[in-house]
Amino acid sequence: MAFDEKFIDELKQKNNIVDVVSKYCVLKRRGSVNHWACCPLPGHSEKTPSFTVNEAGQFFKCFGCGKGGDVITFVMIMENLDYLGAIRLLAEWAGLALPDDDRDYKEIAKERSDRDKLLSLLKETALFYVRNLKRNEAAPFIDYLQKRGFDTKTVTTFGMGASIDRFELVNHLSAKGYTYEEMLKCGVCKKKERTDENGKDTSYIYDDQWGRLVVPIINNLGNVIAFGGRVLEAKPNFAKYKNTQETSLFVKNRTLYNLNNLKKLKQAQGSLSEIIMVEGYMDTISLYQAGFKNVVASMGTSLTVEQARMVKRYADTVIVSYDGDGAGQSATIRGLEIFQKEGLNVKVVTLPEGLDPDDVIKNTAQTLIKNFWTAQCHS
Ligand SMILES: [Zn+2]
Repeated sequence: MAFDEKFIDELKQKNNIVDVVSKYCVLKRRGSVNHWACCPLPGHSEKTPSFTVNEAGQFFKCFGCGKGGDVITFVMIMENLDYLGAIRLLAEWAGLALPDDDRDYKEIAKERSDRDKLLSLLKETALFYVRNLKRNEAAPFIDYLQKRGFDTKTVTTFGMGASIDRFELVNHLSAKGYTYEEMLKCGVCKKKERTDENGKDTSYIYDDQWGRLVVPIINNLGNVIAFGGRVLEAKPNFAKYKNTQETSLFVKNRTLYNLNNLKKLKQAQGSLSEIIMVEGYMDTISLYQAGFKNVVASMGTSLTVEQARMVKRYADTVIVSYDGDGAGQSATIRGLEIFQKEGLNVKVVTLPEGLDPDDVIKNTAQTLIKNFWTAQCHS
């Protein structure tokens, strides 16, 4: 999509670069023209400020790493977005419609405030699950986490939590002022439709992740957009893994699990040489804890073009490590084609039949694993 100059001007006017940069670091005014900060750009850390923002000119320049540009460039670098992605995000921050969007500003403002409400509901839900882990009733969840070898730091990093009861979440969110409609709309609750023998409506709503160990799915902007849950023990009529249903905020084929941490890693290191792609969140968390922090998961086995493009924005090489079962292997083959079409170098880690990356981590000493991966990566 090409944007006319008028739109870009308005976008920049409504996103003062000083305000935008201030979302990422503390700017201090020094002299009559410039604001200064320690450089927030990926790959550059410093103790004495050499990063400047010129408010009058609406540009930034770092005298340490040499990078500079306008507010759009800044957002592209910080959020790891392409040009269009940065424009969309800035338009959203400013409450501006994209030129092909014929809604008026009131509609956009309403949509934005509805969405912010749902995001805050999702965040509140994530905190609720985390707090649950501290309760006595959470003992089986703690046992499970210990058995799988997840340490406290990992549990905290990934915001793992528990849903203990079917209705507590509903009551908690109600007390916080959220409506049933909002709980249903962002997928954290489901409705059981029913009527009694007299035809009276006795439907109720309940926690969709009830009884499960829960991990929040967080997007690259740091917002909780959905949850993944796992049962502790196999039970009949209870799926082992369950994700929140798709919603306006959670579109599976445009989501990669652990992208939020990947973004931080890229910001700290400046660039990443490769990304490891696995199937599920438990594999991701195990690999991360074992020191392979450059890992993401597709949400399910079928990789999409959108996900491949997201990976490409982080690194040029992807190491595919799907489960060593039939489904995992055919997913690997489909994934290879998609990645290659998007111009990524692809390497495949072949796991022993019947094992997933998590099993391999669990069953083998960490040093052996490291050698194994290193060997694969250099082959
Ligand atoms: Zn810099």
